[in-house]
Amino acid sequence: QKAEWEKLKNAQTVTADGKHFELAANIGTPKDLKGVHANGAEAVGLYRTEFLYMDSPDFPSEEDQFQAYKAVLEGMEGKPVVVRTMDIGGDKELPYLDLPHEMNPFLGYRALRISLSELGDAMFRTQLRALLRASAYGTLRVMFPMVATLKEFRAAKQMFEEEKAKLVAEGVAVSDSIQVGIMIEIPAAAVLADKFAKEVDFFSIGTNDLIQYTMAADRMSEKVSYLYQPYNPSILRLIKNVIDAAHAEGKWAGMCGEMAGDQTAVPLLVGMGLDEFSMSATSVLKTRSLMKRLDSAKMQELADRALNDCDTMEEVVELINEYVK
Ligand code: PEP
Ligand code: MG
Repeated sequence: QKAEWEKLKNAQTVTADGKHFELAANIGTPKDLKGVHANGAEAVGLYRTEFLYMDSPDFPSEEDQFQAYKAVLEGMEGKPVVVRTMDIGGDKELPYLDLPHEMNPFLGYRALRISLSELGDAMFRTQLRALLRASAYGTLRVMFPMVATLKEFRAAKQMFEEEKAKLVAEGVAVSDSIQVGIMIEIPAAAVLADKFAKEVDFFSIGTNDLIQYTMAADRMSEKVSYLYQPYNPSILRLIKNVIDAAHAEGKWAGMCGEMAGDQTAVPLLVGMGLDEFSMSATSVLKTRSLMKRLDSAKMQELADRALNDCDTMEEVVELINEYVK
C-alpha cells in the first residue's frame, strides 16, 4: 500500500472517470512544508497563523510575519496558499493579549471578532500588511475565520483593501490577484451562503467548528461526542448548500476541517462536488488513492440519496458502505 501511495506523490488527483479535485494540506508553521512536499499536496488549503502569535512572547512584528508568509509562498513555488488570519480566543489564549474571561469562550470574543474590534485593529492591520507584502512571492489566498455576518466580511475586506491601497501608494509590490474568502464554520454563514457567495472569492468549510455549532456539542467533550458526527444529515445539507451556493456564483468551495480527510466522508464530498480538500499532509496520499477508485457520477448518486433519503447518520454511513466497497 505504501508503495502504491509513493507512486501517487507526483500524480494528479483524479477520479476513475477523470474528474479533478484539489488535494491540499493544512499547516501551522513554515516548517510543515516538508510534509506538504513529501506527501505531494497540490496546495496549502489552511495555514493556521495563530501559532505565530502563540509561539511568540509578544505580538509578532510585521517583519516577522512577512518572513513566515513569504517562506511558505516561496516554498510552494506558485501553488496556492490559503492563509487564515488569526484565530485567537476560544481555547487559544495569548499571555500578552488581555482577553476577557468568558463563560463560553467558543461562543465569545475570538478570531475575526477580535480582529474587527478596537483591541484587535492594529494587530489585524499588521497581519494584513504582512500578507499583502508576501503576496508578491506566490499565489496567496486570504481567509477570514469565524465569519457570522456579511457585515463582518465587508468590514474585514475593507480593511484589507485599505492596507493594500496604502502599500501600493508606498510603492510596495503587491499581487493584484489575491483571492479573499471565508471559512464557513458558523451555521449562520452556511445558511446564508448564497448571499456570501456573491461577495467572497471562495469558501472553505471548517467542519471542526461547524459540527460543534450546528449540533450544539463541544468538539472536546467526550460525553456529547455521539452528537459530534460529520455524517449527520443536517451537517450534510449545510455542506451541500455551501457548495451549490459557491458554484451558482462561479466560485470554488473547499473544506479544511477534519472531515475533508475522513476516508468515509470523502466519497460523499466527491459526490457533492466539493472542489478542494485540505487535510493533514499525512492523509493526502491515501485520499488520492481512494479518489482514483471512485466514479464521480456514482458518488453523485450516493450524495443525492444520502441528502434526500437518509434520516440518521447511521443510515448515511450504511449507504456509503454500500457504494464504496
Ligand atoms: C475548523 O473549524 O474546521 C477549522 C479548520 O479550524 P480550527 O480547527 O482551527 O478551528
Ligand atoms: Mg475553526
